[in-house]
Amino acid sequence: MRRGRFAPTPSGDMHLGNAKIALLSWLQMRAAAGVFVLRIEDIDIQRSKPEITERIIADLRWLGLDWDEGPGAANLHAPYWQSQRTALYEEALARLKQDGRLYPCFCSRAELLAVAGAPHGLSSEGAPYSGKCRHLSEAERMKKAKTKSPSLRFSLGQEATLFVDGIAGPQHFPPGSGGDFVVRRADGLFSYQLAVTLDDAAMEITDVLRGDDLLDSTPRQLHLYAALGLTPPAFAHAPLLLGEDGRRLAKRHGDFGISSLRRAGTRPETVIGWLAYISGLIDHPEDVKAQELVGHFLLDQISHKPFILTEAMIRRLLPDTTR
Ligand code: GLU
Repeated sequence: MRRGRFAPTPSGDMHLGNAKIALLSWLQMRAAAGVFVLRIEDIDIQRSKPEITERIIADLRWLGLDWDEGPGAANLHAPYWQSQRTALYEEALARLKQDGRLYPCFCSRAELLAVAGAPHGLSSEGAPYSGKCRHLSEAERMKKAKTKSPSLRFSLGQEATLFVDGIAGPQHFPPGSGGDFVVRRADGLFSYQLAVTLDDAAMEITDVLRGDDLLDSTPRQLHLYAALGLTPPAFAHAPLLLGEDGRRLAKRHGDFGISSLRRAGTRPETVIGWLAYISGLIDHPEDVKAQELVGHFLLDQISHKPFILTEAMIRRLLPDTTR
């Protein structure tokens, strides 16, 4: 049985870009008669807000995207909140440590990284880590540990990473690309890379469909799967929606939240139809229910082009009375 998931981070409201990913990953599972899981990625508990989780859940329901496992549904792989799954992460770190795959890192840059949030392209992290702390002697580590708590880094092997992405096609990442990465921050916070890998494996996810800002995180996750002897899912990365400045959609691009459209009186069918149209699943933007698209879904059909969202397009999604 195929299993897919939608894994939002509740630090910001769901926007049209997230809704596109939710729709495509939902369609992929519904078309395959698989299981769809909703997992709340609130590992960075400081930045996550329960009221945002509530709104994401309400938005998904409004869009007609249901889930078989997760909050309010079957709980065969509970808990579905990452903040409640830290024992699993702790245990995996102990194994990786025992196998010599981790080392303490005392570089201050480590603290600056938003490692718990999903990175939006590895380039957003700055230059790859130099590996400076990898070769510290035990004595040097002990000395440094007296004045500073280290973060933990995963040390990459010598292998290149090759995989075929279901949307983006064949991928090749040279050995060491991205550099050794943080799996636990100095303050104890587990990284996105670690948590997402362990959760997808524990929840028996066979198909990950997500935004292509995470394409270059996939080699890191594949290294973790290999190091832990876990079977990786098939990956498919769909193009993100961009703002008019060509940058990843974010708050600076104005109010395009799903909850705002919902409150403004937009019909969910209008949003679904428009998302299906820009994804390449239908020829014209027309009102359609998510359920009606299930028979039309093919991964090959998903448009590879990034899509620029304009203010005018958002206005067209609003009901006539508010335009
Ligand atoms: N939680 C991540 C996000 O909201 C997605 C993680 C994933 O799909 O791997 O950006």
